[in-house]
Amino acid sequence: MTTTASARRTRRRVAVLGATGAVGQAFIRRLANHPWFELAEVAASERSAGRPYAEAARWIGTDRIPGDIAGRRVVACDPDAVTADVVFSALDASVAGDVEAAFARAGRTVLSNARNYRMDDDVPLVIPEVNAGHLALLETQRRKRGWPGAIVANANCSTIVAVLALAPLHERFGIERLFISTMQAVSGAGYPGVPSLDILGNVVPYISGEEEKIETESLKMLGRLDGDHIVPAAIGVTAHTNRVPVEHGHTICMSLGFGSRVSPDDVRRALEEWQGDERARGLPTAPAHPVEVTSEADRPQPRRDADRGNGMTVTVGRIRRDPVLDVKLVALGHNIVRGAAGASVLNAELMEHNGMLPG
Ligand code: NAP
Repeated sequence: MTTTASARRTRRRVAVLGATGAVGQAFIRRLANHPWFELAEVAASERSAGRPYAEAARWIGTDRIPGDIAGRRVVACDPDAVTADVVFSALDASVAGDVEAAFARAGRTVLSNARNYRMDDDVPLVIPEVNAGHLALLETQRRKRGWPGAIVANANCSTIVAVLALAPLHERFGIERLFISTMQAVSGAGYPGVPSLDILGNVVPYISGEEEKIETESLKMLGRLDGDHIVPAAIGVTAHTNRVPVEHGHTICMSLGFGSRVSPDDVRRALEEWQGDERARGLPTAPAHPVEVTSEADRPQPRRDADRGNGMTVTVGRIRRDPVLDVKLVALGHNIVRGAAGASVLNAELMEHNGMLPG
């Protein structure tokens, strides 16, 4: 029988795989003092295993490593070395496929940031405010793969930010055509990431695989659950992706075409009124407003808006008429928080609240 978080007397032990990387560090920050989860283990590659965390990880940021994590020994990403039933994966995609499957086979629930399983038919790709119901795919996953554990994925960072701005509009008006162009922060490439001589004073108009991820993952998340599969949203979408010299925060310019006449005011109202799926409301790290609208002419900006809602709110501005499609706007969100670690932690809270985690 499962036990919901409210009925638990102790916090659930969880682990982070890939704990030394950029996203792994964001997990450590978000799990410090979490009311439902206790960070019990930090795992990374064989290069880091056995070393104290502070020595293995190059801590990015001006804050201190929380609690006693600095002195903890890093363990290997192996189900025999990690004991927690719930693992957050911030693994590099080159290893995430095998490692995450090994954990699911060993009965663990994996909340993954990697791209490997996102587009598999039986893997839920979830933003709690947008498509909490897609978690029902876990039954199909269990039947199909025979894993006692499970894998639940969150999308690529720019896709999550875009979809939070698009979901209220697709729900209300039905989007038919979508043009997306991103300006993505360097922290989205992990650590050490993009060489400084490539990005300082420069823009790189290529991020490997990113355009395809936006064009496919967005349609899966905006799609409809039909029995044991997702029917992707029928939106014609084209994406350009660019890396820019910004530390954190992905900025996304979008032009939208609807099936009916929709004005910029309609779009503004729909975004302001949207609260997201009620199953996500009240979860410990859910923001009061998943989407906020700004009317300032020169916002949103990464430096000023990425941390809204403790990094979990997407800010939308510059909502105006598009002379080719119908309406254009700019969305911005924190790539490492809402786009990665914060997204996984919120998914785990949703599952915990609904009795979907083991134990
Ligand atoms: P990163 O800074 O390069 O960190 C990668 C992590 O993977 C490190 O902890 C590293 O451990 C570990 N690792 C590498 N090879 C390993 C191996 N053979 N066995 C076990 N662990 C291994 O990357 P990141 O930016 O944090 O991204 C992590 C994942 O999240 C990626 O799949 C990425 O695509 C995804 N993601 C990132 C963002 C973002 O904004 N950065 C957003 C969404 C999703 P060592 O330190 O021991 O090498």
